[in-house]
Amino acid sequence: MAKKVPVRLCLGCREPKLKNELIRIVRSADGSIQLDLKGKLSGRGAYICRRVSCFERAVKTKALERSLEVSIPKEVYDSVLAILNQEENG
Ligand SMILES: [Zn+2]
Repeated sequence: MAKKVPVRLCLGCREPKLKNELIRIVRSADGSIQLDLKGKLSGRGAYICRRVSCFERAVKTKALERSLEVSIPKEVYDSVLAILNQEENG
C-alpha cells in the first residue's frame, strides 16, 4: 500500500524534505518562537534541514523571519545552531 509521505520545504535550500530531516520552528499564538523538536506544538511552523548550511542560508536571507512574519530572537537562532552543530559532530 502506497503511503503518502509528508514533505516540507526547507527555507534554506528550498527543497522538499521529509519531516524527520527537518527542524521545525514554531510561532505560537502568543507570538513567541519555539523550537519544535517533537513536531507537536501548534502554531505557524517553518522548516529547515538539519544542516548548518541550510540554517545559515535561511538566516541570511531572512527566510525564517519572513515565513513566520515575526522577528526571531537571537536565543532561538543560537539554540538551533547548537543543535545542528551537535548533530553534525555527533
Ligand atoms: Zn535545506
